[in-house]
Amino acid sequence: MNARSYLELQNNKHRLSLLLFISINTVSAVFTLLIPFQATPAFTLPLIGIPLCCLAAIEYIRRSPRQYIRKLNLSATVFGLLWAAHTYIKHQYLPNDSHSFLLISLLSIFFISAISLTDNVIAFCLNALPSALTILWLDDMHNTLRILFTILLPIVAFSIHHLMLKRSEAFTQALVTNLYHERDKFSDLSMLDPLTGLYNRRGLENRLNQLQAPTTGGHFVLLLDIDHFKAYNDRYGHTMGDQALLQVARTIRDTVRSRDIVVRYGGEEFLVLLINVSEEYATSLAESVRQSVQELLIQHHLHPQEITRVTLSAGIANLDKLDVDSAICSADAALYRAKSSGRNNIQRANSAQNAMC
Ligand code: GH3
Ligand code: MG
Ligand code: MG
Repeated sequence: MNARSYLELQNNKHRLSLLLFISINTVSAVFTLLIPFQATPAFTLPLIGIPLCCLAAIEYIRRSPRQYIRKLNLSATVFGLLWAAHTYIKHQYLPNDSHSFLLISLLSIFFISAISLTDNVIAFCLNALPSALTILWLDDMHNTLRILFTILLPIVAFSIHHLMLKRSEAFTQALVTNLYHERDKFSDLSMLDPLTGLYNRRGLENRLNQLQAPTTGGHFVLLLDIDHFKAYNDRYGHTMGDQALLQVARTIRDTVRSRDIVVRYGGEEFLVLLINVSEEYATSLAESVRQSVQELLIQHHLHPQEITRVTLSAGIANLDKLDVDSAICSADAALYRAKSSGRNNIQRANSAQNAMC
């Protein structure tokens, strides 16, 4: 879920309001048809029109399932006008009972609006005002104060409710946006190694999921391991060991291309995924990395005049058919050979090793 799906949630809420509004109008219209206020006339054309419009509205929503708030306002206006027209026509046939009929009609229309449109003050007004104004006009100043009170009280109450709702919605939306922003930040951080800033294994996995087949040349896995690093730590201390790791990481990152993926694969092991390169270029890049690290001068943090050095050994293997596990296995076997053949060198995985992985 993200900020966009929060808007979808809102839209869904409007859809439910709309469906509730349509259903209540249908039920009210059918009830009025079956049990009319007085027998004559039992029904009017606008009253019959309400259930028909409800059916049309449901079909329209089914065909165009979006922007429910606009549809809600449109339906509120149409049904408001139909109820007002019904009240007007019916009123012509009720000379004796017209005032009580008008009051009942007014309460009914506010009742329908209040149940289904509390969260949408604009739709509420669009629905209730045609009937309210018609009734005010037909009443001929008999119950003017009572009618005005019945109209104004819910409008004022719903307007305040609407303002409170908008504020809480704005707050919730800001909260959701911040939450997803923080989540993305933490998700990014969880893919990085805190010491070197390179990808960790999780970051590698994430990048591998997006990896496409090579467009030119191939992809190569380069596995690098600092030589005798335990001895380096023992001699200069763990803090200097961390310094060396940081500088080696920077050197590797600076030597390969920006499209290549550099990972701190383990304690003093690095993995570089060389993307879309020829075999020769991959080997020369690996050699550049080895050389740059060999030439790296790491100043002692307590005795600046003392310069320390490290070297690394590496194994390189072709990433065939995007089978990363096999490629890492082959590169690891090649790295083992690099270690046993004196360290500070690079070995290519051979077909015998590839077959074993
Ligand atoms: P080889 O040439 O065979 O790779 O020898 P090595 O000493 O580098 O290999 P070994 O696996 O015996 O030791 C790795 C050392 O790396 C041991 C460990 O203390 C050190 N190391 C691993 N992670 C860190 C780290 O984050 N900081 C520091 N300072 N040292 C680390
Ligand atoms: Mg190691
Ligand atoms: Mg090592």
